[in-house]
Amino acid sequence: MSRLTFAEAAERVKGGLDIVDVIQRHVVLKKTGRSYTGKCPFHNDKSPSMNVSREKGIFKCFACGVGGDSLTFLMKIENKTFGELIRDLAQEQGIDIQYEGQQAETVQIQRDARQKILALNESASQWFALQLQTAAAQEVRQYLSKRYTDTQQCQQAIQAFHLGYALPGWENLTPYLKSQFDFVQANPDLLNTAGLASTRDHGQGQYDRFRHRLIIPIHDEKGQVVAFGGRALSDEDKPKYLNSPETLLYKKSQILYGFHQAKDSIRQSRSAIIMEGYFDVITAHLHGITEAVGSCGTAMTDSHLKLLTRFGAQTVYLAFDSDEAGLKAALSAIQLIEPYAESGD
Ligand SMILES: [Zn+2]
Repeated sequence: MSRLTFAEAAERVKGGLDIVDVIQRHVVLKKTGRSYTGKCPFHNDKSPSMNVSREKGIFKCFACGVGGDSLTFLMKIENKTFGELIRDLAQEQGIDIQYEGQQAETVQIQRDARQKILALNESASQWFALQLQTAAAQEVRQYLSKRYTDTQQCQQAIQAFHLGYALPGWENLTPYLKSQFDFVQANPDLLNTAGLASTRDHGQGQYDRFRHRLIIPIHDEKGQVVAFGGRALSDEDKPKYLNSPETLLYKKSQILYGFHQAKDSIRQSRSAIIMEGYFDVITAHLHGITEAVGSCGTAMTDSHLKLLTRFGAQTVYLAFDSDEAGLKAALSAIQLIEPYAESGD
C-alpha cells in the first residue's frame, strides 16, 4: 500500500474512475454520438436529460441543472461528504491515506475500532452459525422447522441468511471471542463497544448480550456483518426481538435488512419491496421475491430511500403488516416517499 496525503489520494482515486462506468452502475446509459445519455437520478426524469462525456469526465442534467465530475456524482448519489467518499474509495482501491496531526489520530483510532468490531462480528456470526448445528440447538431447529415446514427450504433459509443460535447461559460467546482475539484480551471493553457483551453492574466480568436466542445477522450493503437480531424462542422470553445497539458500524436509520442479498435484484428490477420483519424478508426471498428488504423495527428514513435509489430502485412497494402499527408505518413511509414522486407517475 502506498501512503499518500489526502489531496494526493483524492487525485489518485479520481484518476482511477471512469465516469461512464461509475454512472452506469446506477443509470442505464445510451451512447449517442461522442457522449452518453440517460435518465437523471436526481430528479424525476421522464426523458433522458442527463448527458455524460467520457472525454471530459463530466456529467450534466439539462433539466435540473445538476452536474460535475465522477466524484460529484458519487457524493450526491451515495449521500456522502467529500471526505467520506475519498476515504471509502481509497480503501476500495487499496490506497492508504496519510492523515496529519490530530485528524490522523482520530481517523486511525476510528478505523482501528471499526476493523476490530467487524472482525468480532464476523467471528461471532460464524460461531452462532456453528452452534445451530449442535445438539444443544434442537429447540431452535424445531422452531425454524415450524416456520419452514419444507426441510429443504428451512436449510436454505439458514444458509442464505447465515442464521445462528446463541446458547443459554451468561458466558459463551464472550470467553470464545477472548480466546480468539488478543486485542479483546488487551481491551475487553471492545466487546461492549461491538454490542456483543455487557459488563456486570456489581463485580467483575462481562456477559453475553445474546442468550438463548435464534440469531439473525444483519449485513451492510457490502455483506459485512454489522449487527445481530435475536429472536426469543419462547413467549416467556422478553423482548421478543433483541437487537444490537447502535455502534460505529450499525446505524439503524441507514441499514435495511436483507439489502445485501437483494441489491442485485433491486438493480435489475429497478424496484424494491419493503417489509417489516426479518422473517418476512427471508420468506419472500425463499419464494423468489428477491428484491425484498426489511426496515426491522424502525421507521423508514430518508437514508433508507437514498440507499434504494442509489441501487436503481425507481418503484418502492410497501408490504407492512395489516395491523395498526403496520398501517402507521406505511403512512409515515408514504409521506417520506412523496417528495421523490412529486411529478406523479
Ligand atoms: Zn436532473
